Amino acid sequence: MLLSNEERETLWRRVIGAIESYIREIPHRRVAPLLEPEKIRAFLQAVDFNTPMAPDQAVDFVVDGLLRYQTHTPHPRYYGLFNPAPTTMGIAGDALAAAFNPQLGTWSHSPMAVEIERHLIRHIGSRLGYDPSIIEGSFTNAGAEANHTAVLVALSKRFQNYAVEGLRALQAQPVMYASVESHHSLLRAARITGLGAQAVRAVPVDDDLCMIPSALQTMIRQDRAKHYEPFLIVATAGTTNAGAVDPLASLADIAAGEELWLHADAAWGGAAAFVPELKQLLQGIERADSITFDAHKWMSVPMAAGMFITRHPGLLSETFRIENVYMPKEADVLNVLDPYSTSLQWSRRFIGLKVFLSLAVAGWEGYAQAVRRQTHMGGRLRERLPTAGWETVNSTPLPLVCFVDGTHPKGKSSGYLAAVASEIVNSGRAWISTTRLKDQVPVLRACITNYRTSEEDVDALVDDLEWARSRVLSR
Ligand SMILES: *Cc1c(COP(=O)(O)O)cnc(C)c1O
Repeated sequence: MLLSNEERETLWRRVIGAIESYIREIPHRRVAPLLEPEKIRAFLQAVDFNTPMAPDQAVDFVVDGLLRYQTHTPHPRYYGLFNPAPTTMGIAGDALAAAFNPQLGTWSHSPMAVEIERHLIRHIGSRLGYDPSIIEGSFTNAGAEANHTAVLVALSKRFQNYAVEGLRALQAQPVMYASVESHHSLLRAARITGLGAQAVRAVPVDDDLCMIPSALQTMIRQDRAKHYEPFLIVATAGTTNAGAVDPLASLADIAAGEELWLHADAAWGGAAAFVPELKQLLQGIERADSITFDAHKWMSVPMAAGMFITRHPGLLSETFRIENVYMPKEADVLNVLDPYSTSLQWSRRFIGLKVFLSLAVAGWEGYAQAVRRQTHMGGRLRERLPTAGWETVNSTPLPLVCFVDGTHPKGKSSGYLAAVASEIVNSGRAWISTTRLKDQVPVLRACITNYRTSEEDVDALVDDLEWARSRVLSR
């Protein structure tokens, strides 16, 4: 395991060289590989761990394998789920985090790292409209963990004995509300908290795929009449499927009237707060009790960096703090918080560094420009698609377009749309996907996830779609 100084230096150069040529060459590569599990397993047979490899040989092997067998989400023609092209500062941040390896379990082991994360949570929370003096939060592995945290915090707030006695001590079954278009991590959170997936009430959406407040209100009344215990409303600000933003202010009114916790899942859409002309989309988010925000979505840091942010100080500790004898105790004396007592995680990696370096160097203005540019590219795609006979079916200012083929009788069927998407993906020219809106309506889906995606890239996608259509129709 010990490398000499010279060996290390050679290794670093190799790694940096591989990173730099990857960044430069991505646009010339296929976006997605052919998916061949047997080939990858055969490729891996070359390494059996009985014959140690030289460091540069091991690095070359991995780089070669990743180049061949990866959907290149940093590719400017990757129009997928929100997986970004990582910022350069973020890549540097992750390398530094690995080398310094701060342990973010406790404040006293990593004061600088913990304070950097606190600083970020306050600044980002304040961009989202919270009063910085009361913001608390925690970095999470990703958005799913932040949503899980929200369910746990809302449970602890509503049911005082939940932490000690658990769900079985409750008189009634707790229930929570989220739109049919909300993220499925909420269902899983309900499952693993022991609430059960049935505790998640799927609230219907309108034609714009936004939650219908009156439907929510009715469901809450009906549940109360049947002696269920509502405890949480989750508003989605930027759905995964179609970029819909639930009516946050109306949901905040209902939450206030019903005395329920309001959580805003703004994993990717929250970045709309970085540009004045999009900010009003999120109006009311500042009234949410807590927010999920993912920096590895529209802040484009390397995977993964989620945040749970709340305007109720103290609740994270009430939810997660466990008394024990072996952990360092300085936090109480210093009046600071140990991350392990405010998080689902215990030992934890320095997730915030890649966010800190990216934001420190780009500044808010750099992020505003990136969000604006991607929004512009989304707008261009939305305009260009109808000229080639595609019908766009979602409406959102966010750069995510759902569409079907208006030129052919089969153009709205799931089989046809899936065939078009796989022609595109298999060609290696771009990556798009299919999904279903309201769990029913099949559509093609393309999202601008990359701050390098250009007008030329968008136009090429429209051309590729015409090509894919003709291939499918000629079968
Ligand atoms: C991405 C996303 C999630 C899940 O976050 P991960 O970072 O993938 O765990 C949850 N909700 C929304 C709206 C998302 O876009």
